[in-house]
Amino acid sequence: MREAFLRRLFAKVSCGICGQKYDAANIRILDQEDGLWVLSVYCGSCGTQGLIAAVVQDGNVTDVITDLTEAEYERFDERQGVGMDDVLEMHGFLKEFDGDFSGLFSQD
Ligand SMILES: [Zn+2]
Repeated sequence: MREAFLRRLFAKVSCGICGQKYDAANIRILDQEDGLWVLSVYCGSCGTQGLIAAVVQDGNVTDVITDLTEAEYERFDERQGVGMDDVLEMHGFLKEFDGDFSGLFSQD
C-alpha cells in the first residue's frame, strides 16, 4: 500500500511557489499515523523548503496541506487557491506545534 500511496501523493503535490513537481528524492516522511502523513519537501527547482500534511483514507490521498513560510504565503495568497483556509489553518497549527506528533495523536 505504501508504495502505491507514495506514487499517488507525489503525483498530487507540487511546489507552491514555482509549481514544479517535487522530486521523490526530495520528499522525506517525517511521520505517519492514523492516516495523517507529514512530509518534509524540498523543491529542487526554486529551493523552497516546506512541510506537507496529507490526509489518507482507504489508501487514497484525500487532502494535501502545504505549510509555507510567510513570504511564500503572501505570494501564494494572491492566487486565491482552493482550500486556502485549510492551508492557513494548518500553517497556524504547525507554527505553534512543537513537532511532537506522537504525543499529539496518543492523547485520547
Ligand atoms: Zn519550487
